[in-house]
Amino acid sequence: MSRPLVIAIDGPAASGKSTLGYHLARHLDYLYLDTGALYRAVTLAALRRGIPIEDEARITALAESLPIEVLPADGREGRQYTVLMEGEDVTGALRTPEVDHAVSPVSAYPGVRAALTRRMREIARRGGVVMVGRDIGTVVLPDADLKLYLIASLDARAQRRFLDRLAQGKEVSLEEVRADLARRDAIDSSRKAAPLRPADDAIIFDNTTLTIEEMFREAERLVRDEDC
Ligand code: C5P
Repeated sequence: MSRPLVIAIDGPAASGKSTLGYHLARHLDYLYLDTGALYRAVTLAALRRGIPIEDEARITALAESLPIEVLPADGREGRQYTVLMEGEDVTGALRTPEVDHAVSPVSAYPGVRAALTRRMREIARRGGVVMVGRDIGTVVLPDADLKLYLIASLDARAQRRFLDRLAQGKEVSLEEVRADLARRDAIDSSRKAAPLRPADDAIIFDNTTLTIEEMFREAERLVRDEDC
């Protein structure tokens, strides 16, 4: 491969972005960054400090100063990565219903987005990265070499996220998971700052009809084309 590429993958919650992004990054020996983890870390820190989710100023200050590190997976628990917040491993704590519930309002604050977007661009500067999120192709990395946008029906996504949560031993119902995804998608798509939408030059993958394996093969082909 002649030059390390920058690959952006966006889409709604539980659309298969992280599975595709993680496997693609491993295959290419690129860095994988799931940017949702950064928004989740700020949200977890706010909840732990008892900062009301409505307190935009304090939450923005937190996003600007909170020490967050995302480290490559060390093979434990089938993890894709490890997140350290102020030095503490919070990888599991980021995936609770409380964080799921509060993360979209936190992510809608422009100051939070500005602070985290700065960190993401810093990470992407060296190239050779697969970055996954909601606004990577539109705002964070508008010059990315390849932009993919994943879609899938709400039912298919709810079913997938429900099985993830069961595997984690969490007690939730399919209905609760479905309602949470629908609520987050609505907030993420309608917010003023960097709403969820495909970039004009993104390639759309419909995960309701394509399997992850098929998406992976197609993404790999697109990467090869990009490299020619
Ligand atoms: O991808 P994940 O479900 O972990 O993302 C959690 C939340 O973080 C999303 O619902 C969205 O509100 C926010 N997010 C965002 N922009 C990104 C990544 C995530 O607003 N680039």
